[in-house]
Amino acid sequence: MSSTSEQRRARLVKEAESLIDELLDWNDNTSEPNLTQIEDVVLELRERFSEEMAREVIEAQEAKQLVVGPPCPKCGQEMRYKGQKGVAPQTWVGDVAFERGYYHCAKCKLGLFPPG
Ligand SMILES: [Zn+2]
Repeated sequence: MSSTSEQRRARLVKEAESLIDELLDWNDNTSEPNLTQIEDVVLELRERFSEEMAREVIEAQEAKQLVVGPPCPKCGQEMRYKGQKGVAPQTWVGDVAFERGYYHCAKCKLGLFPPG
C-alpha cells in the first residue's frame, strides 16, 4: 500500500518537529557550546532530515513506477520485477536504508534498482 502526499507530508513535518525539539533540548542542556559544537549538532540533525526526505521521495517515485518495468539498459527489453529488496545506498545525504523494487533482465543477466 502506498502513501499519499498528505501522509508523506505529515511524516516529514513530524520528523522535522522532533529534530527541532532535539535541537532545543540540546540548547537548553548545553552551557556555552563553542561554534564547532553548534555546527556538529546542526549538521547531524540536518543529515537525519535529509535522509528522511530522500527516503520519502524515493519510495513515492517507486510506487508510481511499479506498473511497467524499466527497459534493460543493454538490450532495451522490459525488465521483470523481482520483488522488494532491502538496500542501504551511500548517498550524498547519508545512509538511506529502505526497500526498493528490484528488476532483472534474464537475457543480459542484469539487475537494477530503478530509478538508478
Ligand atoms: Zn537485457
